[in-house]
Amino acid sequence: MGKYTQAKCRLCRREGRKLFLKGERCFSAKCPLERKGVVPPGQHGYKYMRKKVSVYGMQLREKQKVKRIYGLREAQFKKLFAIAAKNPEATGVKLLQLLETRLDNVVYRLHFAPSRSTARQLVSHGHVLVNNKKVTTASYQLKVGDVVSLKPASAKIKDVVASQQAAKDKESVAWLQKKATQGKILRIPDRHEIDEDINEQLIVEFYSR
Ligand code: SF4
Repeated sequence: MGKYTQAKCRLCRREGRKLFLKGERCFSAKCPLERKGVVPPGQHGYKYMRKKVSVYGMQLREKQKVKRIYGLREAQFKKLFAIAAKNPEATGVKLLQLLETRLDNVVYRLHFAPSRSTARQLVSHGHVLVNNKKVTTASYQLKVGDVVSLKPASAKIKDVVASQQAAKDKESVAWLQKKATQGKILRIPDRHEIDEDINEQLIVEFYSR
């Protein structure tokens, strides 16, 4: 699958919930889901709302939803699922933990970027350090004890400053320790600390067909 270039809000409308893909706009009244409620995209969107969804359809939508929240392509998502499936822990939970501990997601969780896609750009453009070394791979898997920081000059980027400013009243996640433009992985997040509105079992069932 190639890079998705259409309007991001369509993805939220398709999944029937906010996926928070556009930074601060998602928290404002400008979000189309706030203004119009959930309407699937396209001319016949309303018609599809009334359609009964099969079990396969539910599994597929859940997989698509999570893939889109974290901004992964199918091949990347499938690869991560395969890693999670080899783990002795519950596959679904492990998959979510692997998604959460990706470098781009941690940069987003630390409020260095307003969205995961901006976080990914920050990483690939070389603005992010892990344990004081530049890492440009957004999918880089962080471990407990790793320290993620921004280069001093990068902390002055407009989007970074705005994101930090917007997040000053928001709490950081408990599994990360944040100090200015630096954050440490204290532990792997527990399931209850990851989006509650995800049914990871449906994803496991989707790939186990
Ligand atoms: Fe989704 Fe954000 Fe667009 Fe709202 S503004 S539909 S949450 S991407």
